[in-house]
Formats: sequence, structure tokens, C-alpha cells
Amino acid sequence: MTDQLIIFDTTLRDGEQSPGASMTRDEKLRIARQLERMKVNVIEAGFAAASNGDFESVRAIAEVVKDSTICSLARANENDIRRSGEAIKPAASGRIHTFIATSPIHMEKKLRMSPDQVLEQAVKAISWAREYTDDIEFSAEDAGRSEIDYLCRIFEAVIKAGATTINVPDTVGYNVPEQYADTIRTLIERVPNSDKVVWSVHCHNDLGLAVANSLAAVRAGARQVECTINGLGERAGNASLEEVVMAVRTRRDVYACDTRIDTTQIVPVSKLVSGITGFPVQPNKAIVGANAFSHESGIHQDGVLKHRETYEIMRAEDVGWGTNKLVLGKHSGRNAFRSRLIELGAAIESEEHLNHAFARFKELADKKHEIFDEDLQALISDEAVTPELEHYRLVASCFHSETGETPAARLTLNVGEKEIQAEAEGSGPVDAAFKAIETVAKSGTELLLYSVNAITTGTDAQGEVTVRLSRDGKVVNGQGADTDIIVASAKAYLNALNKLHGKFEKLNPQI
Ligand SMILES: [Zn+2]
Repeated sequence: MTDQLIIFDTTLRDGEQSPGASMTRDEKLRIARQLERMKVNVIEAGFAAASNGDFESVRAIAEVVKDSTICSLARANENDIRRSGEAIKPAASGRIHTFIATSPIHMEKKLRMSPDQVLEQAVKAISWAREYTDDIEFSAEDAGRSEIDYLCRIFEAVIKAGATTINVPDTVGYNVPEQYADTIRTLIERVPNSDKVVWSVHCHNDLGLAVANSLAAVRAGARQVECTINGLGERAGNASLEEVVMAVRTRRDVYACDTRIDTTQIVPVSKLVSGITGFPVQPNKAIVGANAFSHESGIHQDGVLKHRETYEIMRAEDVGWGTNKLVLGKHSGRNAFRSRLIELGAAIESEEHLNHAFARFKELADKKHEIFDEDLQALISDEAVTPELEHYRLVASCFHSETGETPAARLTLNVGEKEIQAEAEGSGPVDAAFKAIETVAKSGTELLLYSVNAITTGTDAQGEVTVRLSRDGKVVNGQGADTDIIVASAKAYLNALNKLHGKFEKLNPQI
């Protein structure tokens, strides 16, 4: 009998806090549906008290997802907990995750509370949460730099108050594996009733040790790992879900537990998250990088051909590579299109919405004949932009690029209600297109990143462009996809400007 290792995905909460990775409600819903399909145990859907938008996202996910527990983060105060409680109400299974800082530096400098006051507040938080659910997680923020005696005291108190999962986060990514495992082992040994709760870990990757620390903790008795798809998250990110899951699965001889994850969903979810957030996956990234299963060197190839296991410890198809089968083509009908969208988790709000998306699909099919899931995901992302958030829109474009001539772009843009012509020259057609847009937008932004990725293979593939802009400390990512990468670039730039145009403010707690 192996124990179950609970996979707690926080892509939608901690992952979303990477600068520029903020997602809309519809985007979060699509990712949540895929996480459910992958059989993630717990989805941390957001921080309900951060803003009305966050509240609505958590609530929408709680309404739709049935096979995963839906969790909302809450600081240890009454307002945060009540907002979380309300947001998870529709869930078949809902959890409140409350936290308070326990390291001397955080208690003294940030909270300005004594250790006794912090403990009392934590116990109160659990009692408020119990009005909404029996599934309560407590996190000691910055546990990695907290005193072990104090951690034992506060954990004992919150378990008594009704917490069912105890999370020991390494908020600042300071821990190393052996020492972190010792901390977990000591806590499990010393805290009274430790066998009544699930011990959880949440590791940050500042020293590149998030996965190693999480796995060391699992060996020491932790049975929940908090992680994100592609290791997304603030600074260097969180432990990456795919690495934790595949390490435990591949080395069942070492870990006395396994997850319920359907690993064949890993690559599709990775691509979805990367596409929505605009954070590309590096080619040499474990499990989900494009090169993770390619065997370039001649010696390796020979070995793999003779007997796969000589150099491969996992099979590419077990994590979902090679499953991007041709799904639709030029002659696919409206019904096939509709049912594929539903399978991909897209919300079809009306017949009009469907008709519009179908027309776009036909246009694309004319250009590239074979349509893959990734193309449809890009199309949904494009379609998901609600008109009221679309201040700038590309109507028509003409680019000039010829040897010996200065590249130029001529664009027709919709700005609010007006149609405006814009022209500029540049060092290349993309540069010219951005300059043309700026003659109209005058955004005062700084371009932090420009990247192009092919969505699928072949020269007829759609280019997916990410543009990251910053203004006054606010960072946004814009995406655009098209078989013409210059058009995709212009769309991505306008998408980023639209996000800056729509103002929203929210809190970003760190755990
Ligand atoms: Zn975190």
C-alpha cells in the first residue's frame, strides 16, 4: 500500500503573481478545467479578498470544477476569511487556506505583533474559517526562517482549533534539502496530534532547490506538495508540478507514495499555461521542455534505438508528448468545432460568440489546412478578449520589407470608436509596426520582452508572440497569434496596451 501524495496546484494564485502573468477570469477557468482533467487534488484558485475580479474568478471556478477541491487563500483576518468562504461556497469540495507570518523578522517588522498575538490571531482565523468548511489549511508564512519551538506551539494550537492541513512554506527559497527535511521530520515528531493532519510543503526556487526541497520533505513525511505548472511563480518561481509528479512516479522505489495525476495531461496543460501567460518554456526544461525527450548525440540515439531504456527513464507519451494529433481541418463542420472547444474547456457564451469563433477558424484553416489543439487554444485566447476591454484593435495592415529599402508599416487601427491610420518606418517590419502603433497610442511604456514561438511545427505554423510592457511599475504581457508573425506581433503589442488601458489593482500576498 502506498500513501497518496496530494498535489496542490497554485498556478492560479502564486503562479499568477509573477509580474506580467495575470490572467482573466475566463483564462483561469480554462486552466482550472484542465487541472481538473489532470486530476489535481486541490486547485488554489486565487486570493478572494485581493479584488472583486479575484473573488469572481474563485467563485466561477468553484461553480464549474467538481473533481478537485477548490481553495482560496486568505490572510488571518476576518474579512479575508469571509470573502474566501463566500467565494468557495458553490464548490463540491472547498478549502480555506489561511496564513500568518511566524518568523521573528516578519512578526516584528511587518506585522508588529508579539508571538503570542500572532498565535491568538491564527486560532481566531481557524474558527472563522470553520463557519464555512471543515477543510482548513494553515500556513506559517516564512516558516523556513522561523524558530522551531515557536512553529511547534502555533501548529499545536491551530490543529486543536480545527486546521486539517499544516503547510510549512519556504517563502523566500532559503532552505536546502537535508535541513528542510529535518525541519519537517522534527515538526511531525514534536507537534501533538501531528498524525491527525496532512503535512504540506510550499517551496520557492530562489536557489534552484524548490523541487529537491519538496521531495526531501516527502521522504520526511510530508503528504501534500504545493506546486505550479512549469514552475511559474514569483521571482524564480515555485516547485514545478510536472517534476515533482514524475520524480515520485519514476522513483516509486524511493518514495513511499504516489499521486493520482493523469500524467498524459502534463504537456497539454504546460502549453496552455505558457500560451495564456506568455511565459515560454525553456527547451531544456525537465519533462515539458521541447528537448526533454530528444536524444541528439549519436551514441544515445543508437542506444535508444536498440533498447529504449538504455537512456530514457520515462516515456515521452506518458507525459503527453506526441499527442498533439491533427484535430480539425478545412472541411470540419461547426459541430465538430463546437465539441472540440468544449473539450478544451472554452466557455461558449452564445451562438453569436460561436459563429464568430467559427468564422475565425475557417479563415485560419484556409491559411494552414491542419488545425491542432494548440491552434484552437490560441484562437480561444484571442476570442476571449471582451470588446469592452479592447480599446485598441488591428483592422488592417500592410508591411514593406525589401532589400535596400527602409522597412515600413501602415496600419489601420480601431481606437475606441474611431478608425485611425498609422504609419512608421523601423529597423525591421516588427519595429516599424510597433512604432506605427505608438504614433497613435503614445503609451509611454518600456518594452521589456519580445518573443516569437511557433505554436506547432512546420513553416505554416502560427507564430505566437509575447510582448511585455511596463509603465509606472506595472508589468503586462500581451499575446497575439497569426500565421503572419508581423501581424501576430502587432496584435500582441495592442493586447498589452489594452491590458494597461483597463485599470485594475490588486493585492499580492507572498507565501
Ligand atoms: Zn509562494
